[in-house]
Amino acid sequence: MARPRAYLDHNASAPLRASAREAMLAAFDAGNPSSVHAEGRAARRVVEDARRAVASLVGGRAEDVVFTASATEAASTLLRPDWREGRARLGFSHLYVCEADHPCLRAGGHFTADQVTRIGVDGDGLLDFDALAECLTRHDRAQGLPLVACHLANNETGVIQDWARLVDLVQERGGRLVLDAVQAAGRIDLKNVGAHHLILSAHKLGGPKGAGAILSVCDGIAPAPLHVGGGQERGLRAGTENVVAIAGFGAAAREALGEVERMAAVAALRDRFAQTVRACAPGAVFHGEGASRLANTLFFSLPGLKAETAQIGFDLAGVALSAGSACSSGKVGPSHVLRAMGVDDEGGALRVSIGAQTGEAELALFEVALARVWGGVAKAAA
Ligand code: PLP
Repeated sequence: MARPRAYLDHNASAPLRASAREAMLAAFDAGNPSSVHAEGRAARRVVEDARRAVASLVGGRAEDVVFTASATEAASTLLRPDWREGRARLGFSHLYVCEADHPCLRAGGHFTADQVTRIGVDGDGLLDFDALAECLTRHDRAQGLPLVACHLANNETGVIQDWARLVDLVQERGGRLVLDAVQAAGRIDLKNVGAHHLILSAHKLGGPKGAGAILSVCDGIAPAPLHVGGGQERGLRAGTENVVAIAGFGAAAREALGEVERMAAVAALRDRFAQTVRACAPGAVFHGEGASRLANTLFFSLPGLKAETAQIGFDLAGVALSAGSACSSGKVGPSHVLRAMGVDDEGGALRVSIGAQTGEAELALFEVALARVWGGVAKAAA
């Protein structure tokens, strides 16, 4: 019999929901959503159904959703200097991102390095508003408009930015705001965010990997298309829609929306994971605790223990969690988020990220694994 495992890495990718799997299986035989025959119309219905579900997750309109192949692709679509307002050209001369952003924003998209400014964060991971305000005041509008991009909730710490203040500031200074809501969607109520564009990813909600979306305000302003071709997705993202992945995205979004109100219970469980860590390793340091955080995320360092080593110990003990940021190579790099927060990142940090389905069984496995991993350190020190 397989040993039980606890999957505590929802921020990396949430487990696929049964509803998403079913929706995808049903969509495998779909036709091309651009075809006018019955099979095409059936595929179009699947895509438009999913579009409505994704729009409801953020209180938007279905017609303002553009499906992409990932949140990274959504960011790549939006972070570019050349935009249009109706038929007129609209240029953005500078991009302002946050030091603690996911690399898909932090790298600056299609802007050149000298066109990108990274705004710092404080010790809790909150954006330095004064620095951003000063940059926007100094911004030379004769060269083009300012584009601002920032995460709404951080993937490592779970820290939630003050998005209402960010929206006000960028609007007041005549800029355009892209918010990366990948980790926030389904975990906080995003019905009234008010940013010009939100970025979403299906697999953080229990949908499939390889599906993302942009939700925009309807003001006739849009970036130049990432791909040109058949004009799909309002001309922004040509290429036949991935009907199967989109079907899964829609099903996951529908279910995730219903879970937002259960986040208080998720936070209570997350806090019990924290108590378990404190009881076992009293010197543990918790990151981002001074700020408002996602209910599901816990990010902590165990002094004297390298997070990478601890992660392997947890894995062997049946617990999947993450250490720092996992690169595509599977290697664990130093956390740019902790560095931005001014935290000494020598040993790295561990991230526990749970979901509405996580329960007592996972907590019990975590407790046993932690005792084993931390017990090894205590023995070595004795
Ligand atoms: N933004 C944040 C905050 C993320 O956590 C991630 C994934 O880790 C992404 C963007 C990229 O999402 P995707 O895997 O869909 O490209």
